Amino acid sequence: MDLKTELQTEASRLGFALFGVTTPAPPQSMPIYLAWLEAGRHGNMAYLATDRAVERRGDPFCILPETKSIIVLGIRYPQPNVFPTNSGSELEGRVAAYARGQDYHEIIPPRLEKLAVFMQLKTGTPVISRAYTDTGPILERDLASRAGIGWIGKNTCLIDPQSGSFFLLAELFSNVELEPDQPLTMDYCGSCQRCIEACPTQCILPDRTIDARRCISYLTIENKGSIPASLRPQLGNWVFGCDVCQQVCPWNIRFASDEIDADLHPNKEIAHPILTAELHLSPQDFNRKFKKSPVQRARRRGYLRNIAVALGNSGCPEAIPTLAETLEHEPEPLIRAHAAWALGQIGTQNALLSLRKALMVETNPMVLDEINIALK
Ligand code: SF4
Ligand code: SF4
Repeated sequence: MDLKTELQTEASRLGFALFGVTTPAPPQSMPIYLAWLEAGRHGNMAYLATDRAVERRGDPFCILPETKSIIVLGIRYPQPNVFPTNSGSELEGRVAAYARGQDYHEIIPPRLEKLAVFMQLKTGTPVISRAYTDTGPILERDLASRAGIGWIGKNTCLIDPQSGSFFLLAELFSNVELEPDQPLTMDYCGSCQRCIEACPTQCILPDRTIDARRCISYLTIENKGSIPASLRPQLGNWVFGCDVCQQVCPWNIRFASDEIDADLHPNKEIAHPILTAELHLSPQDFNRKFKKSPVQRARRRGYLRNIAVALGNSGCPEAIPTLAETLEHEPEPLIRAHAAWALGQIGTQNALLSLRKALMVETNPMVLDEINIALK
């Protein structure tokens, strides 16, 4: 068995279902990425636009000057319908499929480390390597498509023609020379437009990029402030991320794998939280529930903000006592502000009464604004 085949076998044993090799040549999609930054479509993710980050994305040698090959790997996560859309209750939220189990930042790095050690053992020489899983400035979908793993779909996801797009990417840069794989040259999207049509906020652009400022994934995770009021109704019951553009993709509908990596097994309480209960999570409860979960990234204030929006979108009068209590007692103004919006959306006499009550005692300008708008 040659070294590349041995590495692929070992990667598969470590749980990496997808494997490909590419060179450290500059990524082809860099001009599109630069135009995306130039247009400000990265929102407030300023770390993407620093000179250092841009330079590194444009040249893999800046990441590891000794690089001779890059192994690109994929680990599958369970598709969203492992827990299908719930009990039908309007008071249930939805978390994106990749975030329903343990945080992949905890799972993937030790496996990459083991692969690097295996490489060293097999070559019998010191190996210089660097591993990434969404943790550094790399255009990873570009590298993955060049490594023959899939093609970049119109929804911007990398799609494997054998198993769809429900997987996470990881990369191992090293000074070991490996035969590169052939890129997929076909665009298997063809004339399909399903993801573009289904996107709730219409943020998928013709050049296979997303205007992050309108994307539910960005709005519910990376965005640390207020969610623009005009976009809140489109969030529906998504409280962390969004799977819509992947769920409608025919390549997922037909080919998504049922295999579940043991470490990424989804947790039903995280996948479909009861919204009224979530809004009561104290900081301690939040940290306990999401200790090793990707949901930590939103922090309590971002997550509860999203929960309040989902409750407003439910239109359920049953949510009023919880929202009113939040408006009265929650210390975090961002959460109170979104609870006020939610009460305005429900709009019954009781909801308006709680808003008027809060107006008498509220002092935070952002919350006062939201209350006044909600009352109108
Ligand atoms: S994640 Fe949701 S909001 Fe973002 S592009 Fe896909 S469908 Fe649109
Ligand atoms: S839904 Fe259609 S257009 Fe969108 S990524 Fe899938 S195949 Fe491509």
